[in-house]
Amino acid sequence: MKIEVLTLFPELVEQVGAFGMPRVAVERGALQLSGRQLRDFSGNRWRRVDERTYGGGPGMVLQAEPLAQAIEAARVAVGPAKVVLMSPQGERYDQAWAERLSREPALILVCGRYEGIDERVMPQVDVELSVGDYVLSGGELAAMLVVDSIARLLPGVLGDEQSAASDSFSDGLLDHPHYSRPEVWRDQAVPEILMSGDHAAIRRWRRKQGLERTLLRRPDLLDSLKLDAEQIKLLREIITEQLHEQEGRT
Ligand code: SAH
Repeated sequence: MKIEVLTLFPELVEQVGAFGMPRVAVERGALQLSGRQLRDFSGNRWRRVDERTYGGGPGMVLQAEPLAQAIEAARVAVGPAKVVLMSPQGERYDQAWAERLSREPALILVCGRYEGIDERVMPQVDVELSVGDYVLSGGELAAMLVVDSIARLLPGVLGDEQSAASDSFSDGLLDHPHYSRPEVWRDQAVPEILMSGDHAAIRRWRRKQGLERTLLRRPDLLDSLKLDAEQIKLLREIITEQLHEQEGRT
């Protein structure tokens, strides 16, 4: 997968490829990441790419021409690619988007700055993605989130292929809790079942924990989910237990 990030701060964005899983992805050749400086396409000796907004008011706008040229140059570099504009007005970026994008051969991520980009560049953009309902001062951090979450999904990057599959959201649910050594830490023991060696029981326990967390913390995730027979059974158990707990309190 090739990713080009169009930005005023290529050094910042490239940092995401220097640590952790994205670094592994780069080292294994699964990810090619580069930042492209928008100022290289300014066409003026001040390397200026922003201008005042028409109609008045405060704030500057990223100009259309340098952006369009940068997109064209990135296309030449990476071949056919989806052009993604990072924008608080975009579709909400989530794990399903990460999975979808991780299957693309190449991506061009456009980072806005100031008040945003000149609207006339929009026909060159395939999709706008938002990382949440808050406003960042630039698209770089958002692009870095996208790169990180995609890098760990690329084939051969996570050591254990299973581990991305069991993460939160990948099956539409939150992940179950995890424990590691020591067996007792500050008077808190690891749940006994995890030490039992009974793999079927452990699997069931984990599924139930994931479901319970989802029900209590993110019930909205359950709306769009098709539960299997075991999950429905587990959910019944969880609800019964929750009701018993409620009754115990009253
Ligand atoms: N005036 C714009 C915000 C501009 S913020 C508006 O209200 O919609 C400057 C740039 O930061 C944006 O162009 C975008 O690239 C990036 N950005 C800000 N918040 C973001 C978010 N939640 N998700 C993705 N990108 C964001």
